[in-house]
Amino acid sequence: MEKVWLEAQGNIEKVLTPQTFNTWIRPIRFGSATSSSLILEVPNKFIKEWVTEKYLAMIQEAVSALAETPCQIEFRLEEKTGDGKAVDLAQPGEKSGSPTGREKTRPGDPTSNLNPKYTFETFVCGSSNQFAHAASQAVANKPASNYNPLFIYGGVGLGKTHLLCAIGNQIHAKNGKARVCYYTSEKFMNEMINCIRYKKMDEFRNKFRKMDVLLIDDIQFMAGKEATQEEFFHTFNSLYESHKQIVVTSDKFPKDIPQLEERLRSRFEWGLIADIQPPDIETKVAILKKKAELNAITLPDDVAMFLGSSSTSNVRELEGMLIRLGAFASLTGNEVTLTMAREVLKDIIVDKSRDVTVEMIQKYVADHFRIKLAEMKSDKRLKTLVVPRQIAIYLCRELTKASYPEIGEKFGGKDHSTIIYSMKKMERQLTQDLELKTTIENLRRGLLS
Ligand code: ADP
Ligand code: MG
Repeated sequence: MEKVWLEAQGNIEKVLTPQTFNTWIRPIRFGSATSSSLILEVPNKFIKEWVTEKYLAMIQEAVSALAETPCQIEFRLEEKTGDGKAVDLAQPGEKSGSPTGREKTRPGDPTSNLNPKYTFETFVCGSSNQFAHAASQAVANKPASNYNPLFIYGGVGLGKTHLLCAIGNQIHAKNGKARVCYYTSEKFMNEMINCIRYKKMDEFRNKFRKMDVLLIDDIQFMAGKEATQEEFFHTFNSLYESHKQIVVTSDKFPKDIPQLEERLRSRFEWGLIADIQPPDIETKVAILKKKAELNAITLPDDVAMFLGSSSTSNVRELEGMLIRLGAFASLTGNEVTLTMAREVLKDIIVDKSRDVTVEMIQKYVADHFRIKLAEMKSDKRLKTLVVPRQIAIYLCRELTKASYPEIGEKFGGKDHSTIIYSMKKMERQLTQDLELKTTIENLRRGLLS
């Protein structure tokens, strides 16, 4: 069946543009097959979603034409080494050596399991993660001095793994000889089980005990796993006694991890416990901008704001939206725009702005500038009226689906060309006038909250 897939891939290549093919189809690998199904492996879930949506039928057809019997196609994510849960941020099909900041990330130590992309440089610090960020930096700058162990806790996708790896990468960058080791607690457990089975426990113990820095991710998975906890407890003690740094992360506070042995819990409480809270809109927007920069995606402010104001606080999900958008833009050869974002992400972002109407905007902006609603809709050319009117029109275009004629109608029966003129003027001014930009951002935020 592998041959069938390769041949089918070759046939698909003939009908797609090289860019589309390289982006979406080339990364798909043969996984396994049964008599009636073909399992294909894709590198990440964005490719998986996209290919399922756009190319499944084509793939199905290409394969069926070559296979002797009808065949069901299934996609599966490729297994990754290291932090298996981390989404690979490389743009699908991205060429190596992109002129972005990605080179700035250090290669890291291949034996440490650290994800080299997760560094302090690529981490955005905001009020929600300030404390954990500062604690992590303190530990990275002076391991095993003040905060040992460091316990980082916070919800899914809030940056725990990123910070944990950033600590390891920084220590390693400063001192290439430091033995740094990143393990998820699951991997710790699996390896331990294997070593027990093959009677290699001494090796297992020695390996961990000679580390200078031990980073254990998602410690909550050890809940209820007594033998693993026991082993980890001894590893912990041995490292701690020899003044080695330990950092663990968890999605819960130590006290709230069920079935965590008391003695382990109290060990965690010896050190510093730092939390990461869900990011606010400003931080979400800042993270999105950073990720866009790292992935060479041009992300206009209004789009960043649109993504940032979505209800999710899971940064991984936000990144997913961004990558999807970037991929769409590059595939279609267009710039990322708000209209495109709305369309591409319509199933993902519950668009709050759907509830915003022209009338609401008129009233809100009029109130803000303390003018009358009638003045907002009038033709009076006073500057104190023109500016609010143009801002309101701009926001109507941005936040509602109203067309130019509809907006014109609701602004006292203006011609649609007047509305277009007003929009153009605003767009031009926005590129020069920071105060205006801030005013609009505040109004937009007020309207969406
Ligand atoms: P967790 O381990 O808490 O579930 P991760 O560390 O895996 O979360 O973060 C999920 C994704 O979000 C990663 O790609 C990470 O780079 C990104 N991320 C989270 N917080 C930030 C931040 N403050 N700055 C930059 N990227 C972030
Ligand atoms: Mg994690």
